[in-house]
Amino acid sequence: MPPKRSRKKRAAKPSIAINEAIRLLTEQYGPFPEEPRLDPAHELVFTILSQHTSDTNSERAFRSLMGRFGDLYSIARAEVADIESAISVGGLAKIKAPRIKTILTRILELNQDSLDLSFLAEMPLAEAKAWLRQLPGIGPKSAGIILNFSLGMPAMAIDTHIFRVAQRLELIGPKVNADKAHDLLEAAVEPHQVFPFHVAFITHGRQVCKAQRPLCGDCIIGFGCPARDRMMGSDGPDASQTPKPRKRAGSKTTQLPHTPEIEETTQ
Ligand code: SF4
Repeated sequence: MPPKRSRKKRAAKPSIAINEAIRLLTEQYGPFPEEPRLDPAHELVFTILSQHTSDTNSERAFRSLMGRFGDLYSIARAEVADIESAISVGGLAKIKAPRIKTILTRILELNQDSLDLSFLAEMPLAEAKAWLRQLPGIGPKSAGIILNFSLGMPAMAIDTHIFRVAQRLELIGPKVNADKAHDLLEAAVEPHQVFPFHVAFITHGRQVCKAQRPLCGDCIIGFGCPARDRMMGSDGPDASQTPKPRKRAGSKTTQLPHTPEIEETTQ
């Protein structure tokens, strides 16, 4: 009986180092100036409004809400139906209106009738996250957005684009869920790189490493992507696709993304 021939395994392609990916993607899409946008309580309301809604619609809803009530304390006292009508331009108002009212009421209960959440910046990161996550509907992603975008703390916020890119680059394993991905990627990224990582990866996921038909042939980090060959195979992108021109370093600043498509697990 002839000896069995051992099948040669193809060597696994090493994944790009996370710092190198951030550097190249920042060169491609950046720079990403880190400027606080809203105070934490307003950011929190904005985050709820941005769930499952485009940036444009969530900004419209936020402007309409603040225009109608003036401040967050008035929103906390308002009837749900009035909040609902104010945010109807953003979609899912029936779900978001009671969520906003409940969350603001709960903050007032927990924080001595104040909606000033600036004290979170004085807390260790894990405690600040835990404080926010005790609020109804605030999971790791929303907590990360509030702490990172508003207070400049190195909290990771993983949305569906970042999650997909990180999986394809094998920065996280195939069985890692979104909750766990927050912890793993937060540990892997240097604190001062958390914001650029977030914006660079989300932009790459939206523009190049799309869920369907990623533009691997036009990917600046493709040389270090273990999924590239598979994605460019028969199940991958159409060879006839024409990559769109990419924005180069030094061009207009990428808008801050707000796309929390991954469901929060804490309700
Ligand atoms: S090579 Fe393809 S799958 Fe890999 S990161 Fe780039 S676009 Fe995504």
